[in-house]
Amino acid sequence: MREPAPILVVGSVALDTVRTPFGEAVEALGGSATHFSAAASFLTPVRLVGVVGQDFTDEHLRPLVERGVDLEGLVRAPGRTFRWSGEYGEDLNNPTTLDTQLNVFASFDPVLPAAWLDTPVVFLANIDPVLQERVVDRMRSPRLVAADTMNYWIGSKPAELRRVLAKVGIFLCNDAEARQLTGRRNLVDAAEEIRRLGPDVVVLKRGEHGVLVFDPEGPFAVPAYPLQRILDPTGAGDAFAGGFLGSLAVDLGRGKPDYRRAAVMGSVMASFQVESFSLERVRSLTPADIEARYLAFERLTRFPAYARE
Ligand code: AMP
Repeated sequence: MREPAPILVVGSVALDTVRTPFGEAVEALGGSATHFSAAASFLTPVRLVGVVGQDFTDEHLRPLVERGVDLEGLVRAPGRTFRWSGEYGEDLNNPTTLDTQLNVFASFDPVLPAAWLDTPVVFLANIDPVLQERVVDRMRSPRLVAADTMNYWIGSKPAELRRVLAKVGIFLCNDAEARQLTGRRNLVDAAEEIRRLGPDVVVLKRGEHGVLVFDPEGPFAVPAYPLQRILDPTGAGDAFAGGFLGSLAVDLGRGKPDYRRAAVMGSVMASFQVESFSLERVRSLTPADIEARYLAFERLTRFPAYARE
């Protein structure tokens, strides 16, 4: 069996302050690249490109080091680390952003170690689309490129984001973001519109309602795992992307990528992410936990063939 393909990710590494109806985390490790890397690292080697400030300690980094994420592309720059704070009400699907401080990301120019330029899978996690484009432009013919974004960038850098869309094969965002990006309320229309902008595969994340995958073979749906205890949805989208792309990277090592298996693996990783604040649950995961939850998804969604008279 061939080795899974490594993934290069660029995105935010953050200190998050989050309030949910079930508790609060203050300046906890977060960021799109962080959550993505932790999840994907269970499936394939991950190379992280990003920046932190002088206030970021080795203790903050420990969960990523423990997961074996390659941090050669993570720069420590003068200034403060990116900070995000948000709050969830009863609707756990959409946080209200209370504050976004770009800090060291405002003047960041991604540094790609020479040995990483041939990485076969690239994930442009949620960050300034200008940085996303710079990274994809520097890579040497990757086999698979995916991107994510959020309302903050759709609102502030729409033209730059469209340029990124034209350069990626897979695009992931949540339902509200797809509507904001396209001006279409209907999600099938929105996905079609996004596919016209470039990506062949569009994944719409719908929080507790699961995900919709639109690929050339048509739509595919995976529910969110019905959990009794959800503490904090922050990072669920990035953990989904980590499982999704990690699974595709495993497939690439063997042959043809399977988007449906990837969507289930993404949903598995997202279901663990929401069980704790920050990276607590994901840090303690074992391969056996992942396999058990994947099988639970199989039982959740399997149904008998149509019974004719
Ligand atoms: P999600 O998976 O969508 O819940 O993403 C949550 C992560 O996105 C948090 O850990 C934040 O640090 C990060 N984040 C929030 N706003 C931004 C932004 N404008 N740019 C990059 N990352 C962000």
